[in-house]
Amino acid sequence: DPRIQGIRTRIRVVPNFPKPGIMFQDITTLLLDPNAFKNAVDLFVERYKKENISVVAGVEARGFIFGPPIALAIGAKFVPLRKPGKLPGEVISEEYVLEYGKDCLQMHIGAVEPGERALVVDDLIATGGTLCAAMKLLERVGAEVIECACVIELPELKGRERLEGKPLFTLLESL
Ligand code: 5GP
Repeated sequence: DPRIQGIRTRIRVVPNFPKPGIMFQDITTLLLDPNAFKNAVDLFVERYKKENISVVAGVEARGFIFGPPIALAIGAKFVPLRKPGKLPGEVISEEYVLEYGKDCLQMHIGAVEPGERALVVDDLIATGGTLCAAMKLLERVGAEVIECACVIELPELKGRERLEGKPLFTLLESL
């Protein structure tokens, strides 16, 4: 798709952020170009609009940027998956392992009903740990995760393999 190249050129790589050796893929520069940002959203919307998806679950924080416009365009609800202590209602939690230490995602109980068809959205997949935890939250309440969708994939970290066969759709691979 010719729109992909325009999206790619808007992603800025920041070396040594947040720590030495990391080549951080910065999507805030994509957001500065309304045409490229819209193209990214449209590519997801075109893929999912006929899939009968009733839930778009976005991962804090950058899944909150791409998830809601996709949800509105396909007529689905948006459910935020947040870091611990942010959601005010009753939650379920899923811990996951990071390079150093642990992290956790939470979802409001009652936000998703059993049998709902869900899409998980984030900006980027690295090791896949975050998306794995997100999918588990949805599956624990009986939802069916149709796919995970990200703008960027870091292929060398093999996050796709960690998803255990769950479909992953990404717009582009990091350089
Ligand atoms: P994973 O759990 O797949 O190892 O890491 C993915 C999570 O970390 C995502 O929520 C993503 O937002 C964040 N992340 C890791 N590296 C980068 C990066 O280079 N750029 C951006 N924008 N996010 C990153």
